[in-house]
Amino acid sequence: MASNNFPSQSHLLVIIIFITTLLTPITTNNTSPQPWNILSNDNFAGKLPSASSSVEAASIDFGHVTKILPSAVLNPSSVQDIIDLIKLSFDSQSSFPIAARGHGHSFRGQAAAKDGVVVNMRSMVNEDRGIKVSRTGLYADVDTAWLWIEVLNKTLELGLTPVSWTDYLYLTVGGTLSNGGISGQTSRYGPQISNVLELDIITGKGEIATCSNDMNSDLFYAALGGLGQFGIITRARIKLELAPKRAKWLRFLYTDFSEFTRDQERLISEADGLHFLEGSVMLDHGPPDNWRSTYYPPSDHLRIVSMIKRHRVIYCLEVVKYYDEFSQHSVNEEMEELSESLNFVRGFVYEKDVTYIDFLNRVRTGELNLKSKGQWDVPHPWLNLFVPKSQISRFDYGVFKGIILRNNITTGPLLVYPMKRIMWNDQMSTAIPEEDVFYAVGFLRSAEFDNWEAYDKENMEVLMFCEDAKMDVIQYLPYHASQEGWVRHFGPRWNTFVERKYKYDPKMILSPGQNIFQ
Ligand code: FAD
Repeated sequence: MASNNFPSQSHLLVIIIFITTLLTPITTNNTSPQPWNILSNDNFAGKLPSASSSVEAASIDFGHVTKILPSAVLNPSSVQDIIDLIKLSFDSQSSFPIAARGHGHSFRGQAAAKDGVVVNMRSMVNEDRGIKVSRTGLYADVDTAWLWIEVLNKTLELGLTPVSWTDYLYLTVGGTLSNGGISGQTSRYGPQISNVLELDIITGKGEIATCSNDMNSDLFYAALGGLGQFGIITRARIKLELAPKRAKWLRFLYTDFSEFTRDQERLISEADGLHFLEGSVMLDHGPPDNWRSTYYPPSDHLRIVSMIKRHRVIYCLEVVKYYDEFSQHSVNEEMEELSESLNFVRGFVYEKDVTYIDFLNRVRTGELNLKSKGQWDVPHPWLNLFVPKSQISRFDYGVFKGIILRNNITTGPLLVYPMKRIMWNDQMSTAIPEEDVFYAVGFLRSAEFDNWEAYDKENMEVLMFCEDAKMDVIQYLPYHASQEGWVRHFGPRWNTFVERKYKYDPKMILSPGQNIFQ
Protein backbone atom coordinates (compact mmCIF):
# COMPACT_ATOMS: atom_id res chain seq x y z
CA MET A 1 0.00 0.00 0.00
CA ALA A 2 2.65 2.44 1.05
CA SER A 3 4.79 2.13 -2.02
CA ASN A 4 1.80 2.10 -4.37
CA ASN A 5 0.53 5.34 -3.00
CA PHE A 6 3.82 7.07 -3.15
CA PRO A 7 5.72 6.05 -6.23
CA SER A 8 9.28 7.06 -5.88
CA GLN A 9 9.83 10.33 -7.73
CA SER A 10 13.14 11.37 -9.15
CA HIS A 11 15.49 11.23 -6.26
CA LEU A 12 16.03 14.90 -6.21
CA LEU A 13 16.65 16.07 -2.71
CA VAL A 14 16.87 19.73 -2.09
CA ILE A 15 19.08 19.86 0.93
CA ILE A 16 19.61 23.27 2.31
CA ILE A 17 22.94 23.17 3.93
CA PHE A 18 24.01 26.18 5.78
CA ILE A 19 26.96 26.70 8.03
CA THR A 20 25.04 28.12 10.93
CA THR A 21 28.08 29.70 12.44
CA LEU A 22 27.66 32.48 9.89
CA LEU A 23 24.44 33.49 11.59
CA THR A 24 24.30 32.15 15.09
CA PRO A 25 27.20 30.31 16.55
CA ILE A 26 26.41 26.71 17.38
CA THR A 27 28.84 24.41 19.01
CA THR A 28 29.82 21.46 16.90
CA ASN A 29 31.19 18.35 18.40
CA ASN A 30 33.99 17.04 16.24
CA THR A 31 33.56 13.50 17.51
CA SER A 32 29.96 13.23 16.37
CA PRO A 33 29.15 13.71 12.73
CA GLN A 34 26.93 16.73 12.13
CA PRO A 35 24.16 16.56 9.54
CA TRP A 36 26.01 18.62 7.00
CA ASN A 37 28.87 16.12 7.02
CA ILE A 38 26.49 13.24 6.74
CA LEU A 39 24.35 14.78 4.08
CA SER A 40 27.31 15.58 1.94
CA ASN A 41 28.34 11.93 1.79
CA ASP A 42 27.87 9.77 -1.29
CA ASN A 43 24.28 8.88 -0.50
CA PHE A 44 23.31 12.43 -1.13
CA ALA A 45 25.69 13.33 -3.93
CA GLY A 46 24.28 15.79 -6.41
CA LYS A 47 21.75 17.30 -4.08
CA LEU A 48 21.07 20.99 -4.38
CA PRO A 49 22.35 23.33 -1.72
CA SER A 50 20.01 26.18 -0.97
CA ALA A 51 19.66 29.52 0.75
CA SER A 52 20.26 30.28 4.40
CA SER A 53 16.81 31.87 4.57
CA SER A 54 15.25 28.40 4.71
CA VAL A 55 17.22 27.53 7.81
CA GLU A 56 16.22 30.86 9.34
CA ALA A 57 12.57 30.24 8.46
CA ALA A 58 12.67 26.74 9.96
CA SER A 59 14.05 28.11 13.22
CA ILE A 60 10.88 30.00 14.14
CA ASP A 61 7.20 29.15 14.28
CA PHE A 62 3.81 30.79 14.73
CA GLY A 63 4.57 31.29 18.43
CA HIS A 64 7.53 33.63 17.74
CA VAL A 65 8.88 32.98 21.21
CA THR A 66 11.62 30.51 20.32
CA LYS A 67 14.41 30.49 17.77
CA ILE A 68 15.96 27.07 17.32
CA LEU A 69 18.36 26.72 14.41
CA PRO A 70 18.60 23.42 12.58
CA SER A 71 21.74 22.64 10.65
CA ALA A 72 19.85 21.90 7.48
CA VAL A 73 16.44 21.81 5.89
CA LEU A 74 15.38 18.99 3.63
CA ASN A 75 12.82 19.73 0.94
CA PRO A 76 11.74 16.20 0.05
CA SER A 77 10.00 15.52 -3.21
CA SER A 78 9.06 11.94 -2.34
CA VAL A 79 8.47 9.63 0.60
CA GLN A 80 11.69 7.83 -0.35
CA ASP A 81 13.65 11.02 0.32
CA ILE A 82 12.42 11.01 3.91
CA ILE A 83 13.13 7.29 4.31
CA ASP A 84 16.70 7.86 3.06
CA LEU A 85 17.21 10.71 5.50
CA ILE A 86 15.91 8.84 8.54
CA LYS A 87 17.87 5.71 7.62
CA LEU A 88 21.00 7.78 7.32
CA SER A 89 20.57 9.08 10.81
CA PHE A 90 19.47 5.74 12.25
CA ASP A 91 22.37 3.80 10.68
CA SER A 92 24.96 6.35 11.71
CA GLN A 93 26.91 5.72 14.91
CA SER A 94 25.95 9.11 16.16
CA SER A 95 22.53 9.87 14.80
CA PHE A 96 21.20 13.38 14.25
CA PRO A 97 17.77 14.76 15.17
CA ILE A 98 15.05 15.10 12.56
CA ALA A 99 11.75 16.96 12.77
CA ALA A 100 8.87 17.03 10.33
CA ARG A 101 7.64 20.57 9.91
CA GLY A 102 4.08 20.88 8.66
CA HIS A 103 3.08 24.50 8.41
CA GLY A 104 5.15 25.61 11.41
CA HIS A 105 2.05 26.64 13.35
CA SER A 106 3.31 25.31 16.64
CA PHE A 107 4.01 27.93 19.24
CA ARG A 108 6.95 26.65 21.24
CA GLY A 109 9.48 25.15 18.85
CA GLN A 110 7.72 21.76 18.67
CA ALA A 111 8.64 21.33 14.99
CA ALA A 112 12.26 22.39 15.48
CA ALA A 113 15.41 20.24 15.32
CA LYS A 114 18.30 21.91 17.06
CA ASP A 115 21.49 21.18 15.11
CA GLY A 116 19.58 18.59 13.13
CA VAL A 117 17.48 18.43 9.98
CA VAL A 118 14.03 19.92 9.59
CA VAL A 119 11.96 18.15 6.93
CA ASN A 120 9.86 20.75 5.17
CA MET A 121 6.81 18.60 4.52
CA ARG A 122 5.13 21.26 2.39
CA SER A 123 7.67 20.68 -0.38
CA MET A 124 5.92 17.31 -0.94
CA VAL A 125 2.76 19.02 -2.10
CA ASN A 126 2.19 18.28 -5.71
CA GLU A 127 -0.99 19.40 -7.45
CA ASP A 128 -1.11 16.21 -9.51
CA ARG A 129 -1.20 13.78 -6.62
CA GLY A 130 -1.70 13.69 -2.93
CA ILE A 131 -5.47 13.74 -2.42
CA LYS A 132 -7.44 10.78 -3.75
CA VAL A 133 -11.10 10.64 -2.91
CA SER A 134 -13.08 7.40 -2.79
CA ARG A 135 -16.75 8.19 -3.28
CA THR A 136 -17.84 4.64 -2.58
CA GLY A 137 -15.62 4.16 0.43
CA LEU A 138 -16.36 7.68 1.75
CA TYR A 139 -12.75 8.44 2.50
CA ALA A 140 -9.84 10.46 1.13
CA ASP A 141 -6.22 9.32 0.96
CA VAL A 142 -4.25 12.44 1.69
CA ASP A 143 -0.54 13.25 1.68
CA THR A 144 -0.13 14.69 5.15
CA ALA A 145 1.69 17.78 3.88
CA TRP A 146 -1.59 19.15 2.58
CA LEU A 147 -3.39 21.87 4.48
CA TRP A 148 -6.91 21.10 5.67
CA ILE A 149 -8.28 23.93 3.52
CA GLU A 150 -6.78 22.19 0.48
CA VAL A 151 -8.34 18.88 1.52
CA LEU A 152 -11.69 20.61 1.97
CA ASN A 153 -11.57 22.29 -1.44
CA LYS A 154 -10.71 19.02 -3.12
CA THR A 155 -13.39 16.91 -1.43
CA LEU A 156 -16.06 19.58 -1.94
CA GLU A 157 -15.52 19.24 -5.69
CA LEU A 158 -17.12 15.81 -5.25
CA GLY A 159 -19.76 16.96 -2.78
CA LEU A 160 -17.94 15.34 0.16
CA THR A 161 -16.22 16.63 3.28
CA PRO A 162 -14.22 15.48 6.30
CA VAL A 163 -16.33 15.75 9.45
CA SER A 164 -14.01 16.88 12.19
CA TRP A 165 -12.12 20.17 12.02
CA THR A 166 -9.88 22.65 13.70
CA ASP A 167 -11.06 26.25 13.91
CA TYR A 168 -8.34 27.31 11.52
CA LEU A 169 -7.73 25.38 8.29
CA TYR A 170 -4.22 26.48 7.28
CA LEU A 171 -2.64 23.66 9.27
CA THR A 172 -1.27 20.45 7.76
CA VAL A 173 -2.98 17.11 8.12
CA GLY A 174 0.22 15.66 9.64
CA GLY A 175 0.53 18.52 12.15
CA THR A 176 -2.98 18.29 13.58
CA LEU A 177 -3.03 14.48 13.61
CA SER A 178 0.13 14.62 15.70
CA ASN A 179 -1.78 16.61 18.32
CA GLY A 180 -5.47 15.75 18.16
CA GLY A 181 -7.31 18.31 16.05
CA ILE A 182 -10.18 19.75 18.05
CA SER A 183 -12.94 22.26 17.47
CA GLY A 184 -16.68 22.69 17.92
CA GLN A 185 -17.29 19.48 15.93
CA THR A 186 -15.38 17.35 18.47
CA SER A 187 -18.37 16.84 20.78
CA ARG A 188 -20.34 15.24 17.95
CA TYR A 189 -17.70 13.60 15.76
CA GLY A 190 -14.68 13.26 18.02
CA PRO A 191 -11.31 14.91 17.36
CA GLN A 192 -9.66 14.60 13.95
CA ILE A 193 -7.60 11.66 15.23
CA SER A 194 -10.84 9.74 15.79
CA ASN A 195 -11.74 10.16 12.14
CA VAL A 196 -8.73 8.50 10.52
CA LEU A 197 -8.95 5.02 9.04
CA GLU A 198 -5.37 4.31 8.02
CA LEU A 199 -1.90 5.85 8.06
CA ASP A 200 1.43 5.38 6.30
CA ILE A 201 4.26 6.08 8.74
CA ILE A 202 8.05 6.14 8.44
CA THR A 203 9.35 5.11 11.84
CA GLY A 204 12.53 6.35 13.50
CA LYS A 205 14.29 3.30 12.02
CA GLY A 206 13.50 4.47 8.50
CA GLU A 207 10.94 1.71 7.93
CA ILE A 208 7.64 2.52 6.30
CA ALA A 209 4.47 0.81 7.46
CA THR A 210 0.79 1.03 6.64
CA CYS A 211 -1.28 0.85 9.79
CA SER A 212 -4.88 0.98 10.96
CA ASN A 213 -7.09 -0.41 13.68
CA ASP A 214 -6.59 -3.89 12.15
CA MET A 215 -3.01 -3.69 10.90
CA ASN A 216 -0.01 -2.56 12.99
CA SER A 217 -2.58 -1.07 15.34
CA ASP A 218 -0.08 -0.18 18.05
CA LEU A 219 1.84 2.10 15.68
CA PHE A 220 -1.44 3.52 14.33
CA TYR A 221 -2.68 4.59 17.75
CA ALA A 222 0.78 5.66 18.91
CA ALA A 223 1.09 8.14 16.03
CA LEU A 224 -2.39 9.64 16.54
CA GLY A 225 -1.71 12.48 18.93
CA GLY A 226 1.86 11.17 19.17
CA LEU A 227 3.55 14.59 18.94
CA GLY A 228 5.71 13.31 16.07
CA GLN A 229 7.56 10.91 18.40
CA PHE A 230 7.01 7.59 16.66
CA GLY A 231 7.32 8.33 12.98
CA ILE A 232 6.68 10.76 10.17
CA ILE A 233 3.14 10.27 8.90
CA THR A 234 3.10 10.55 5.12
CA ARG A 235 -0.45 9.48 4.25
CA ALA A 236 -3.73 9.53 6.14
CA ARG A 237 -7.03 8.01 5.11
CA ILE A 238 -9.66 10.48 6.34
CA LYS A 239 -13.36 9.68 6.78
CA LEU A 240 -15.76 11.68 4.63
CA GLU A 241 -19.47 12.46 4.62
CA LEU A 242 -21.80 14.14 2.17
CA ALA A 243 -21.09 17.86 2.43
CA PRO A 244 -23.87 20.07 3.71
CA LYS A 245 -24.56 23.28 1.81
CA ARG A 246 -25.06 25.88 4.48
CA ALA A 247 -24.65 26.59 8.18
CA LYS A 248 -27.10 28.27 10.53
CA TRP A 249 -24.77 29.85 13.06
CA LEU A 250 -26.00 31.29 16.34
CA ARG A 251 -24.39 32.99 19.30
CA PHE A 252 -25.95 33.51 22.72
CA LEU A 253 -24.54 35.68 25.50
CA TYR A 254 -24.62 34.63 29.14
CA THR A 255 -23.70 36.40 32.35
CA ASP A 256 -23.98 33.31 34.53
CA PHE A 257 -21.26 30.70 34.12
CA SER A 258 -23.28 27.82 35.54
CA GLU A 259 -26.20 28.50 33.19
CA PHE A 260 -23.72 28.71 30.33
CA THR A 261 -22.01 25.38 31.10
CA ARG A 262 -25.29 23.66 31.96
CA ASP A 263 -26.65 24.57 28.52
CA GLN A 264 -23.41 23.51 26.82
CA GLU A 265 -23.39 20.14 28.58
CA ARG A 266 -27.04 19.47 27.85
CA LEU A 267 -26.56 20.28 24.16
CA ILE A 268 -23.58 17.97 23.69
CA SER A 269 -25.46 15.14 25.39
CA GLU A 270 -28.26 15.21 22.83
CA ALA A 271 -27.86 12.40 20.35
CA ASP A 272 -28.74 13.99 17.05
CA GLY A 273 -28.09 17.54 18.05
CA LEU A 274 -25.90 20.31 16.74
CA HIS A 275 -23.02 19.98 14.31
CA PHE A 276 -20.81 22.42 16.16
CA LEU A 277 -20.66 23.79 19.69
CA GLU A 278 -18.09 26.10 21.20
CA GLY A 279 -18.00 28.80 23.81
CA SER A 280 -15.86 31.76 24.75
CA VAL A 281 -15.20 34.21 27.52
CA MET A 282 -15.53 37.95 26.91
CA LEU A 283 -13.64 40.50 28.96
CA ASP A 284 -13.70 44.25 29.03
CA HIS A 285 -11.06 44.84 26.36
CA GLY A 286 -12.56 47.07 23.71
CA PRO A 287 -15.02 45.97 21.02
CA PRO A 288 -16.32 42.40 21.41
CA ASP A 289 -14.98 41.20 18.04
CA ASN A 290 -11.64 39.47 17.80
CA TRP A 291 -9.79 37.69 15.01
CA ARG A 292 -11.81 34.52 15.47
CA SER A 293 -15.15 36.25 15.32
CA THR A 294 -16.25 39.36 13.57
CA TYR A 295 -19.94 39.30 13.59
CA TYR A 296 -21.43 41.22 16.45
CA PRO A 297 -23.21 43.98 14.56
CA PRO A 298 -21.44 47.30 15.26
CA SER A 299 -24.78 48.77 16.34
CA ASP A 300 -24.77 46.28 19.24
CA HIS A 301 -21.19 46.78 20.37
CA LEU A 302 -22.06 49.44 22.93
CA ARG A 303 -24.69 47.40 24.72
CA ILE A 304 -22.49 44.28 24.72
CA VAL A 305 -19.59 46.25 26.13
CA SER A 306 -21.82 47.78 28.77
CA MET A 307 -23.01 44.30 29.79
CA ILE A 308 -19.37 43.20 30.07
CA LYS A 309 -18.55 46.28 32.15
CA ARG A 310 -21.43 45.50 34.50
CA HIS A 311 -20.51 41.84 34.96
CA ARG A 312 -16.76 42.06 34.20
CA VAL A 313 -16.82 38.59 32.57
CA ILE A 314 -19.52 37.26 30.24
CA TYR A 315 -19.75 34.14 28.10
CA CYS A 316 -20.75 33.36 24.56
CA LEU A 317 -22.24 30.06 23.45
CA GLU A 318 -21.73 29.39 19.75
CA VAL A 319 -23.69 26.70 17.92
CA VAL A 320 -24.17 25.61 14.34
CA LYS A 321 -26.62 23.43 12.51
CA TYR A 322 -25.76 22.50 8.93
CA TYR A 323 -28.52 22.26 6.40
CA ASP A 324 -29.25 21.83 2.70
CA GLU A 325 -32.22 22.12 0.38
CA PHE A 326 -33.93 19.17 2.07
CA SER A 327 -33.66 20.50 5.61
CA GLN A 328 -33.92 24.23 4.98
CA HIS A 329 -37.57 24.31 6.03
CA SER A 330 -37.03 22.64 9.37
CA VAL A 331 -33.76 24.29 10.38
CA ASN A 332 -35.27 27.65 11.40
CA GLU A 333 -37.88 25.95 13.50
CA GLU A 334 -35.25 23.76 15.16
CA MET A 335 -33.06 26.73 15.97
CA GLU A 336 -36.02 28.64 17.37
CA GLU A 337 -36.91 25.74 19.64
CA LEU A 338 -33.30 25.52 20.68
CA SER A 339 -33.16 29.26 21.51
CA GLU A 340 -36.26 28.95 23.66
CA SER A 341 -34.72 26.13 25.64
CA LEU A 342 -31.55 28.05 26.53
CA ASN A 343 -30.91 30.30 29.52
CA PHE A 344 -28.96 33.10 27.84
CA VAL A 345 -29.67 36.78 28.48
CA ARG A 346 -32.78 37.50 26.39
CA GLY A 347 -32.14 39.91 23.57
CA PHE A 348 -28.51 38.85 23.20
CA VAL A 349 -28.69 36.33 20.40
CA TYR A 350 -26.92 36.76 17.05
CA GLU A 351 -27.62 34.75 13.95
CA LYS A 352 -25.78 34.23 10.71
CA ASP A 353 -26.55 32.08 7.73
CA VAL A 354 -23.47 31.25 5.66
CA THR A 355 -22.19 28.69 3.20
CA TYR A 356 -20.59 25.59 4.66
CA ILE A 357 -17.13 26.56 3.44
CA ASP A 358 -17.44 30.12 4.73
CA PHE A 359 -18.31 28.73 8.13
CA LEU A 360 -15.40 26.28 8.24
CA ASN A 361 -12.97 28.87 6.90
CA ARG A 362 -14.23 31.63 9.20
CA VAL A 363 -10.89 32.36 10.90
CA ARG A 364 -9.22 33.20 7.58
CA THR A 365 -10.89 36.62 7.43
CA GLY A 366 -9.48 37.50 10.82
CA GLU A 367 -6.05 36.23 9.81
CA LEU A 368 -5.95 38.34 6.65
CA ASN A 369 -7.14 41.35 8.57
CA LEU A 370 -4.39 40.97 11.18
CA LYS A 371 -1.82 40.29 8.47
CA SER A 372 -2.74 43.54 6.72
CA LYS A 373 -2.03 45.39 9.98
CA GLY A 374 1.22 43.52 10.63
CA GLN A 375 -0.33 41.86 13.70
CA TRP A 376 -0.21 38.20 12.66
CA ASP A 377 3.49 37.43 12.81
CA VAL A 378 3.83 38.45 16.43
CA PRO A 379 4.48 36.41 19.58
CA HIS A 380 1.68 34.03 20.56
CA PRO A 381 2.18 32.84 24.12
CA TRP A 382 -0.82 30.49 23.93
CA LEU A 383 -2.03 28.12 26.57
CA ASN A 384 -4.49 25.31 25.83
CA LEU A 385 -5.90 23.07 28.52
CA PHE A 386 -8.29 20.20 29.08
CA VAL A 387 -10.20 20.82 32.31
CA PRO A 388 -12.36 18.06 33.86
CA LYS A 389 -16.04 18.96 34.07
CA SER A 390 -16.03 18.68 37.88
CA GLN A 391 -13.40 21.45 38.04
CA ILE A 392 -14.72 23.92 35.51
CA SER A 393 -16.59 26.13 38.02
CA ARG A 394 -13.52 26.41 40.21
CA PHE A 395 -11.54 27.20 37.08
CA ASP A 396 -13.96 29.97 36.15
CA TYR A 397 -13.80 31.44 39.63
CA GLY A 398 -10.05 31.11 40.12
CA VAL A 399 -8.79 31.78 36.60
CA PHE A 400 -11.26 33.77 34.45
CA LYS A 401 -12.66 35.78 37.36
CA GLY A 402 -9.48 35.57 39.42
CA ILE A 403 -6.06 35.56 37.74
CA ILE A 404 -7.19 36.95 34.38
CA LEU A 405 -9.22 39.84 35.78
CA ARG A 406 -6.61 40.66 38.40
CA ASN A 407 -3.69 40.77 35.97
CA ASN A 408 -5.78 42.57 33.37
CA ILE A 409 -3.42 41.85 30.47
CA THR A 410 -5.13 39.07 28.52
CA THR A 411 -6.59 39.96 25.17
CA GLY A 412 -7.61 37.78 22.23
CA PRO A 413 -9.95 34.81 22.05
CA LEU A 414 -10.53 32.86 25.25
CA LEU A 415 -12.28 29.59 24.45
CA VAL A 416 -14.17 27.26 26.76
CA TYR A 417 -16.29 24.37 25.49
CA PRO A 418 -17.01 20.78 26.50
CA MET A 419 -16.32 17.49 24.79
CA LYS A 420 -17.07 13.86 25.53
CA ARG A 421 -14.38 11.37 26.46
CA ILE A 422 -16.23 8.59 24.69
CA MET A 423 -15.38 10.21 21.34
CA TRP A 424 -11.65 9.56 22.00
CA ASN A 425 -9.89 6.23 21.89
CA ASP A 426 -7.71 5.44 24.91
CA GLN A 427 -5.09 3.76 22.76
CA MET A 428 -4.31 7.07 21.02
CA SER A 429 -1.42 9.04 22.45
CA THR A 430 -3.15 12.34 23.26
CA ALA A 431 -3.46 12.75 27.02
CA ILE A 432 -7.00 13.63 28.17
CA PRO A 433 -8.72 13.83 31.56
CA GLU A 434 -10.41 10.77 33.06
CA GLU A 435 -13.88 12.28 33.41
CA ASP A 436 -16.65 11.56 30.90
CA VAL A 437 -16.91 15.23 29.99
CA PHE A 438 -14.05 17.70 29.96
CA TYR A 439 -13.59 21.24 28.70
CA ALA A 440 -11.15 22.60 26.15
CA VAL A 441 -9.93 25.97 27.36
CA GLY A 442 -7.78 28.11 25.07
CA PHE A 443 -5.99 31.37 25.81
CA LEU A 444 -5.16 32.44 22.25
CA ARG A 445 -3.18 35.56 22.92
CA SER A 446 -1.34 37.89 20.61
CA ALA A 447 1.51 39.78 22.25
CA GLU A 448 4.32 42.10 21.30
CA PHE A 449 7.97 41.20 21.06
CA ASP A 450 8.77 43.18 24.19
CA ASN A 451 5.90 41.96 26.39
CA TRP A 452 5.15 38.31 25.62
CA GLU A 453 6.90 37.14 28.77
CA ALA A 454 4.20 38.77 30.90
CA TYR A 455 1.64 36.47 29.25
CA ASP A 456 3.93 33.52 29.70
CA LYS A 457 4.12 34.36 33.39
CA GLU A 458 0.36 34.47 33.50
CA ASN A 459 0.25 31.02 31.86
CA MET A 460 2.52 29.73 34.62
CA GLU A 461 0.26 31.31 37.22
CA VAL A 462 -2.76 29.54 35.72
CA LEU A 463 -0.92 26.21 35.65
CA MET A 464 0.28 26.64 39.24
CA PHE A 465 -3.23 27.51 40.37
CA CYS A 466 -4.60 24.33 38.77
CA GLU A 467 -1.81 22.23 40.24
CA ASP A 468 -2.19 23.62 43.76
CA ALA A 469 -5.92 23.03 43.56
CA LYS A 470 -5.29 19.45 42.31
CA MET A 471 -7.63 19.97 39.39
CA ASP A 472 -6.06 17.31 37.12
CA VAL A 473 -5.84 19.75 34.25
CA ILE A 474 -3.89 18.53 31.19
CA GLN A 475 -2.26 20.72 28.56
CA TYR A 476 -3.38 20.34 24.95
CA LEU A 477 -0.66 21.29 22.38
CA PRO A 478 1.55 20.76 25.40
CA TYR A 479 4.80 22.37 26.37
CA HIS A 480 6.85 21.08 29.29
CA ALA A 481 10.32 22.31 30.08
CA SER A 482 11.44 19.07 31.72
CA GLN A 483 10.78 15.35 31.45
CA GLU A 484 9.22 15.48 34.91
CA GLY A 485 6.49 17.66 33.38
CA TRP A 486 5.93 15.07 30.65
CA VAL A 487 5.71 12.21 33.15
CA ARG A 488 2.95 14.13 34.95
CA HIS A 489 1.35 15.10 31.65
CA PHE A 490 0.88 11.49 30.52
CA GLY A 491 0.24 10.11 34.01
CA PRO A 492 -0.66 6.41 33.71
CA ARG A 493 0.01 6.54 29.96
CA TRP A 494 3.66 7.53 30.36
CA ASN A 495 5.02 3.97 30.46
CA THR A 496 3.22 3.08 27.24
CA PHE A 497 4.49 6.28 25.62
CA VAL A 498 8.08 5.41 26.56
CA GLU A 499 7.74 1.76 25.46
CA ARG A 500 6.42 2.89 22.10
CA LYS A 501 9.29 5.36 21.76
CA TYR A 502 11.86 2.59 22.28
CA LYS A 503 9.99 0.40 19.83
CA TYR A 504 9.55 2.87 16.96
CA ASP A 505 12.30 5.45 17.48
CA PRO A 506 14.91 3.76 19.66
CA LYS A 507 17.60 6.30 18.82
CA MET A 508 15.34 9.21 19.84
CA ILE A 509 15.75 10.87 16.46
CA LEU A 510 12.29 12.27 15.82
CA SER A 511 10.62 15.55 16.82
CA PRO A 512 13.18 16.65 19.42
CA GLY A 513 11.48 20.06 19.61
CA GLN A 514 8.77 18.52 21.79
CA ASN A 515 11.48 18.25 24.43
CA ILE A 516 10.22 14.90 25.75
CA PHE A 517 13.30 12.71 25.32
CA GLN A 518 16.83 13.97 25.51
P1 FAD B 1 3.82 21.89 12.89
O1 FAD B 1 3.72 23.00 13.86
O2 FAD B 1 4.69 22.09 11.74
O3 FAD B 1 4.19 20.54 13.65
C1 FAD B 1 3.60 20.19 14.88
C2 FAD B 1 4.21 18.90 15.44
O4 FAD B 1 3.85 17.81 14.63
C3 FAD B 1 5.74 18.91 15.45
O5 FAD B 1 6.18 18.16 16.54
C4 FAD B 1 6.10 18.22 14.16
O6 FAD B 1 7.37 17.62 14.22
C5 FAD B 1 4.99 17.19 14.05
N1 FAD B 1 4.63 16.87 12.68
C6 FAD B 1 4.28 17.72 11.68
N2 FAD B 1 3.96 17.02 10.58
C7 FAD B 1 4.11 15.72 10.88
C8 FAD B 1 3.95 14.51 10.16
N3 FAD B 1 3.55 14.49 8.90
N4 FAD B 1 4.21 13.34 10.81
C9 FAD B 1 4.60 13.32 12.08
N5 FAD B 1 4.79 14.43 12.81
C10 FAD B 1 4.54 15.62 12.22
N6 FAD B 1 -5.37 23.03 16.98
C11 FAD B 1 -6.55 22.41 17.20
O7 FAD B 1 -6.59 21.25 17.57
N7 FAD B 1 -7.73 23.09 17.01
C12 FAD B 1 -7.77 24.37 16.56
O8 FAD B 1 -8.83 24.93 16.38
C13 FAD B 1 -6.53 25.02 16.30
N8 FAD B 1 -6.50 26.28 15.82
C14 FAD B 1 -5.31 26.87 15.56
C15 FAD B 1 -5.30 28.17 15.05
C16 FAD B 1 -4.11 28.79 14.75
C17 FAD B 1 -4.11 30.18 14.21
C18 FAD B 1 -2.89 28.10 15.01
C19 FAD B 1 -1.59 28.76 14.73
C20 FAD B 1 -2.89 26.83 15.54
C21 FAD B 1 -4.09 26.20 15.82
N9 FAD B 1 -4.15 24.91 16.34
C22 FAD B 1 -5.35 24.30 16.55
C23 FAD B 1 -2.92 24.20 16.71
C24 FAD B 1 -2.43 23.32 15.61
O9 FAD B 1 -3.28 22.21 15.43
C25 FAD B 1 -1.05 22.77 15.94
O10 FAD B 1 -0.20 23.80 16.29
C26 FAD B 1 -0.51 21.99 14.77
O11 FAD B 1 0.62 21.28 15.20
C27 FAD B 1 -0.10 22.91 13.67
O12 FAD B 1 0.04 22.19 12.49
P2 FAD B 1 1.29 22.38 11.56
O13 FAD B 1 0.91 21.68 10.34
O14 FAD B 1 1.70 23.78 11.43
O15 FAD B 1 2.33 21.51 12.41
